[in-house]
Amino acid sequence: MKLYTYQTNHDGVDRIGVECAGWRGMLWPLEAFGLKFADMRDLICHITPVQLSRIADAENATEGNALRLTNVRLRSPIPHPEQDIICLGINYADHAVESARFHEQSFLLSREKATYFSKRAYETTGSGDPIPAYEGLVTELDYEVELGVIIGKDCKSVSVSEAPNYIFGYTIVNDVSARNLQTEHNQWYFGKSLDGFTPMGPCIVTADEVAFPPALAISSTVNGEVRQSSNTDHLLHSIAEIISELSQGMTLRAGTIIATGTPAGVGMGFTPPKFLKKGDVVTCEIEGIGKLTNTVE
Ligand code: MG
Repeated sequence: MKLYTYQTNHDGVDRIGVECAGWRGMLWPLEAFGLKFADMRDLICHITPVQLSRIADAENATEGNALRLTNVRLRSPIPHPEQDIICLGINYADHAVESARFHEQSFLLSREKATYFSKRAYETTGSGDPIPAYEGLVTELDYEVELGVIIGKDCKSVSVSEAPNYIFGYTIVNDVSARNLQTEHNQWYFGKSLDGFTPMGPCIVTADEVAFPPALAISSTVNGEVRQSSNTDHLLHSIAEIISELSQGMTLRAGTIIATGTPAGVGMGFTPPKFLKKGDVVTCEIEGIGKLTNTVE
């Protein structure tokens, strides 16, 4: 099933809704299944397998009418992550080549070990909300479509074969990046952590709906022009390897978000570069999850 965080009537209250298979475009409030969680993190940490299977089928809804997805304001599925987002740098071979050329850093071509960094995201951005341009601060604004993995239960010292059991679901992350800040500060953290630089959504697809490892078409467009087009089975370091490796030394808590890296075709990869400007519409899409669309303002 697909889990959304949404708002209605502009009352500013985040609610959780379920889009069930066979009922696309319709959203059932979680309360219709007799369940109540404070937010998506609370749900991820505390929902039982029995409850999860129960809300997978709209036939089990006991009250209330379904809403149309087009009639609600979508929020990021996890509006306030508990911790910074864990990101993979250079996890598609073709993106390694364009990054090494732009940054003039040959180490980016080394693929023996995964490159990890983090991205501050006190508040993530839902589909339909703006990406701020930060004119004067950001001169090289870029986009990166990525498959986001949501950890479902605390995870420490797990093997590669056990790792898939710890995945709650998947989402789309746009790892918005200020290339000039990355270059000027010789480090990626600041340039990727500005407020509004983490569009995420439109939903979380639960892991049971995605064959493992995920082999999903992944793409981005800017103003309708295809920029990135690849498949998530081209990851250099697989999702299971990432979870297993990190868990050897750090506890991945339930609700952890891992952005698994972006394929070629980001703005800095073009000659001359095609950076974002005010008014540009960026759409990130992953097969089976949906579309995440944001306009630069
Ligand atoms: Mg990235």
